[in-house]
Amino acid sequence: MASFASMKIDELNVLENSLNDRLDKFKRMNLNLNMSRGVPCTEQLDIASDMLNLINKDSSFKAEDGVDCRSYGDLAGIPEAVRLFAGMFEVGLNEIIIGGNSSLNLMYDTMLRAMYFEVVGSEKPWSKNEKVKFICPVPGYDRHFSICEGLGIEMITVGMTPDGPDVDEIEKLVADDDSIKGIWCVPKYSNPEGIIYSDETVTRLAAMKTMASDFRIFWDNAYAFHSLSDESKQLKNILSECKKAGNPNRVFIFGSTSKITFAGAGVSILASSEENIKLIKKQISIQTISFDKINQLRHVKYLKNIENVKDIMKKHAAIIKPKFDAVCDIFEKELSGKEIASWIKPNGGYFMSFNALDGCAKKIVAMAKEAGISMTPAGATYPYGNDPHDRNIRIAPTYPPLDELKTAIEVFCICVQIVSIWKHKKDNGGIKC
Ligand code: PLP
Repeated sequence: MASFASMKIDELNVLENSLNDRLDKFKRMNLNLNMSRGVPCTEQLDIASDMLNLINKDSSFKAEDGVDCRSYGDLAGIPEAVRLFAGMFEVGLNEIIIGGNSSLNLMYDTMLRAMYFEVVGSEKPWSKNEKVKFICPVPGYDRHFSICEGLGIEMITVGMTPDGPDVDEIEKLVADDDSIKGIWCVPKYSNPEGIIYSDETVTRLAAMKTMASDFRIFWDNAYAFHSLSDESKQLKNILSECKKAGNPNRVFIFGSTSKITFAGAGVSILASSEENIKLIKKQISIQTISFDKINQLRHVKYLKNIENVKDIMKKHAAIIKPKFDAVCDIFEKELSGKEIASWIKPNGGYFMSFNALDGCAKKIVAMAKEAGISMTPAGATYPYGNDPHDRNIRIAPTYPPLDELKTAIEVFCICVQIVSIWKHKKDNGGIKC
């Protein structure tokens, strides 16, 4: 198909009419399809359901160290869970805390503690400074931005490259502004672009000179095990790199089993240097006596070891990959050659990033909504919900069944084309839309 830019207004009008006919047909179906969040589908959740049978009233509730998992104790996690997750996230046994049901919760609390108490090496709580700023690679994860927004932390955006966030830019920013206290990173299958940070990016983030001596990297490794194919690029170990560079306390690593076992009912982790973990344990002990160790025990029995985790994730990929493939096939069929959109097909994670023509994303999402398709709001991938180009849309293909997903994406592509035609007509013929 010809690019829209090369088409005459008459040709665009004909095409618009036929697209409107297609859209009307879908509207008459009263669709109600949800592609707004990266949620596991029921079939995928079912994979872990056997985990619920691994503990019952006749089980031994004793952890390896003799602690009864039904009672208080082992604030940093039962030893077998510590060993399993330390192995999975490639850190030492004294460099990890096994938390509750949500890594986002750990991130929020970690930020709060830095704001109102201290991090190792800080002269005062961050909030006692006139300004606190955080670097936010964009497009990025809306809930990270909400944490900053809620706590009054100013967000500075930097662009993403195929190797991760633009480190040249980051190095310049952090070198001479001590109010920049940290950066959000989703280093593997970034949300939403699915990018894995290159070795060089990891090393430079770990080693860069920061004016703030208490600068922290919030390393949200939510998709550490979520490859869709066998050839997964390895992510360099950030904690080792920080240690090598003489910045051992620079990174807080987060992860969870939300998308390995049950979303919101899994186990989360916070890993960091021994010194950081020691302080955090002290701080957390005010907040809780211990996390849910029965869930930890259940997870250890179910996940067993890293090899088994990888096997489980292959079962997930068998469900998820056809969904990503279907989205890409429909994009290809409906949109390629028209020069109205670009997208990245990731090798893992939960999302795809879609760029429409500038100024079109909000209209596309609104039009899709009218046709019964809920997408992540346009702008959500930017701080304050403000995409300066109004072009980025996060696609979340994991939840709907394949048939529904195909319908939703077809409707979405029709909307993309209609709104792009409006833009071309407006730019070229002065026609109001
Ligand atoms: N981090 C990222 C990058 C995510 O995409 C998500 C969920 O979509 C989360 C964290 C939430 O993790 P949890 O369920 O462990 O709080």
